[in-house]
Amino acid sequence: PATGGKPDVIIVGGGIGGLSTAFALTRQGLRVRVLERAREFGEVGAGIQLAPNCTRILHEYGLLDEARSLGVLPENMVMRDALDARELTRIDLRDLERRYVYPYMVIHRSDLHGMFLRACRRAGVDLLTDQKVVDYENTAAGARVRIDDGGVQEARLVIAADGLHSVARRKLVGDDVVSSRYVAYRAAVPIDRVRENGVAEKDIVLHVGPRCHFVQYALRGGEMFNQVAVFESPKALAGQEEWGTPDELDAAFEATCDDVRQGIPLMWRDRWWQMLDRDPVSTWVYGRIALLGDAAHPPLQYMAQGAIMAIEDGWVLAEHIARRSSDGTPPDWDAALAAYEAVRVEHCRRVLTTARAWGELWHLDGEKRLQRNAIMRERDVYDYGFTDWVYGPTALTPDKEPAMFTPIPLDSVPVQEVGTAAEF
Ligand code: FAD
Repeated sequence: PATGGKPDVIIVGGGIGGLSTAFALTRQGLRVRVLERAREFGEVGAGIQLAPNCTRILHEYGLLDEARSLGVLPENMVMRDALDARELTRIDLRDLERRYVYPYMVIHRSDLHGMFLRACRRAGVDLLTDQKVVDYENTAAGARVRIDDGGVQEARLVIAADGLHSVARRKLVGDDVVSSRYVAYRAAVPIDRVRENGVAEKDIVLHVGPRCHFVQYALRGGEMFNQVAVFESPKALAGQEEWGTPDELDAAFEATCDDVRQGIPLMWRDRWWQMLDRDPVSTWVYGRIALLGDAAHPPLQYMAQGAIMAIEDGWVLAEHIARRSSDGTPPDWDAALAAYEAVRVEHCRRVLTTARAWGELWHLDGEKRLQRNAIMRERDVYDYGFTDWVYGPTALTPDKEPAMFTPIPLDSVPVQEVGTAAEF
C-alpha cells in the first residue's frame, strides 16, 4: 500500500476511470494514490450499460461475479421508432454473449463505482478525498500535482482522470468542450412505479425520434427501472445561456408514442446533463502526465462506451507497464506510456466520431427518418459487423485493433424504395 510512503503513481479523480485504473495498476504491484476533490467517493444513482469489451476486463479482474450479482443481464436490446413505436431492429443479447464470451449487462452506476472502491481498498490503494488538484508539472524523476490547499504530491507517473472538465486537459491541450445542444434527463425508480405501464422488464429498449430519444431498462436485479430522456434544446439553438431546463422536457416528447410519453413524468427534474464532448486529440501523454477516461476522450454517450473506454484505458496502461517491468527494476514508464497512447488514441477517436454519427442517425426527421427505418428493419439480427470492432477483445497494440464498421450512407437508399410517410 502507498499509505505513508511515496506512491509510484498518483491518479487525479476517483470516478469509474480513476478507481478502475488504480485497481489495475495495484494488481501489477505498483503503489497507487488517488486524489479526489469531493468530500466522499461516489457516483450518480442512475444506470450504466456494460458491453462485453468491459465485462471481459471485469472477469480478468475477478470482479465479474460481483458485478453480475449487482446488475441485470437483459435479454434483448430493442430499437423502436419513437413516433409510431414500431420495432426497427434488435440485438439478441444471449446470442451476443455466445459470440463475445462475456455478457452485456446493465448496472447501477453507484454499484459499479462502489465495487471498484471496495476492490481498491482490498488491494491497498491509498484513497484520499478533499484533494482538489489545481496544477500539474513534470519533474526530473516524474511529475507533481498541486492541491488547492497548497500541498504538493509527487510520483513517477501522474494520471489525470478528472473527467470532462479536466484541469489537466485545460492546461495541456487547452481546447474547449463542444456542445451538441442536446440534454439528458435521467431517472431510476422502483420497478412498481412503471409496472402498470407495461414496460419491457427484460430488455433494453431504445426509442429513437426526431431530435429526441428515450432509453429504458431494469436495474438492481429487476427491483429498479432506469430511464434516460435525451432531446435537442430549443433554448440552446437560440443561443440562450441557461438551456436544457425542465420546462423544455415535456414539449420535446409531445409527439412521441404512448410508451415514451408515459415515462416522461418520472424523469428527475432537479438535475440534467448537457451533452458535451470534445474533438478527439492525438496526444494524451505529456512527459509523465497522462490523460485517461473522459479527460482524454469525453464522448456523446450514444455508443454507451464512455465509462467502458475509461476502464479499458486503465487495463491497457497496466498491461503495458507490466510488460515493461522486471523483478527489482522500475518499469520503463515512458515506453509503457507511448504504447498506451499508440493504441488507445485511435480506438477512442473512432468511438467518439461514431457516437456523433449515431446521434445524428437516431434523431433524424422526415424522409431521412423513413430511410433510416427502412435500413434498420432490413438488418439481420445476427449480423455483428457493426459491433465486432467495439465489443471484441480490447486491443493492446494498433495491429490488433479491428477494422472499423462503416455504416451505409443514407443517401445510397433511394427514397421511393422505402415508401411514404403515410405507410408508416
Ligand atoms: P468522471 O466520472 O467525470 O470522474 C472524474 C472524477 O474526478 C470525479 O470523481 C471528480 O469529482 C474528480 N475530479 C474532477 N476534477 C478534479 C480535480 N481538479 N481534482 C481532483 N478530483 C477531481 N458510459 C458507459 O460506458 N456506458 C453507458 O451506458 C453510459 N451512459 C451514459 C449516460 C449519460 C446520460 C451520460 C451523461 C454518460 C454516460 N456514459 C456511459 C459516459 C460515462 O458516464 C463517462 O464517460 C464516465 O463516467 C467517465 O468516467 P471518468 O472517471 O473518466 O470521469
